[in-house]
Amino acid sequence: MNTEVFNAKTQKENGTQYAGRVIRAGGLVAFPTETVYGLGANGLDGEAVARIFEAKGRPQDNPLILHVAKKSDVKDLWRHVPDGAKRLMDAFWPGPLTLIFVKSDIVPEEVTAGLDTVAVRMPEHKTALALIRAAGVPIAAPSANLSGRPSPTTAEHVLQDMDGRIDVVLDGGACEVGVESTVLTLVGRPTILRPGGITREMLEQVIGPVEVSPAVLRPLKEGEVAASPGMKHRHYAPDAEVIVAVGNPRKIASIICREYEIEEAMGKNCVVLGTEQTRSCYHGMNCDIIGDREEPGSLCRELFAALRRWSGRVDVIFAEGVEEADQGLAYMNRLLRAAGFTVLDE
Ligand code: AMP
Ligand code: MG
Repeated sequence: MNTEVFNAKTQKENGTQYAGRVIRAGGLVAFPTETVYGLGANGLDGEAVARIFEAKGRPQDNPLILHVAKKSDVKDLWRHVPDGAKRLMDAFWPGPLTLIFVKSDIVPEEVTAGLDTVAVRMPEHKTALALIRAAGVPIAAPSANLSGRPSPTTAEHVLQDMDGRIDVVLDGGACEVGVESTVLTLVGRPTILRPGGITREMLEQVIGPVEVSPAVLRPLKEGEVAASPGMKHRHYAPDAEVIVAVGNPRKIASIICREYEIEEAMGKNCVVLGTEQTRSCYHGMNCDIIGDREEPGSLCRELFAALRRWSGRVDVIFAEGVEEADQGLAYMNRLLRAAGFTVLDE
């Protein structure tokens, strides 16, 4: 299959109209959102949705998010719209918040992997909204990477994984948030299943107490049922070992310097994903400064791009843990999974 690439700015009209027709015809289109690039198909067409799973090599039991272009579209997808959802949509849509509620009959089982609930979000990115409007249907879209790899935050990342496997890529430049949307279930007590750009603190200001699923920061225990099927699967892994050091910045830097030396003495190539605060600690070492510890959003924006940058080029990637508050929770959730939960704390 030949994958066509359109520049979402210079070929705006042609690109989105063409891509909308491809979606309607059952094809696959990768498109930018404010979180990461999505791999979209007609969300009301089970056969088209099945092609997403095939192109990504995604486990069949991991449901997809439906993307809509206006808030009122949830009425067709959910059995009814709870009050809390209305308030959250008014506060955070369009934006990086996915809401889960009981599905209506028009949602195919391929989207929900057989669950009776469906995840819906209205993205903020202009190209994503234009594509959904052009398609005229909700677009089912997971991240546009091969399953298990870091999510793509540029069109180039998408092509690394998907060239020849999908019909179209809309290139809209780099994504602003850099990690996938916050996933919040409204079935039972509101619970974050995956942290993201809309933080627990922000949600609580609108609907009061919000729980965080324990599996956000640790692996599932044996026999534990995943609140969200995505929690079960290996995620975000580059082709290199990832090791996370935790503690205060000074302690983190001293752990990383010590371990780096040990790995290097064994002939391994290493890189440190450092921060502004620890820049001066990694003197003479291979160091890639990815953001500011005081602004965890800056780390979220760069994490996946940095994992891809060093994937296959080094043996070991050292990364710094941050406090698990605000956007630091989303950062730690992705980083710990990329590391297969390998953590050093002394
Ligand atoms: P991705 O498509 O890669 O952004 O992943 C979507 C995430 O949302 C995965 O972790 C899914 O398991 C989760 N998800 C989607 N739909 C549901 C649902 N109905 N119930 C629970 N989790 C869901
Ligand atoms: Mg994904």
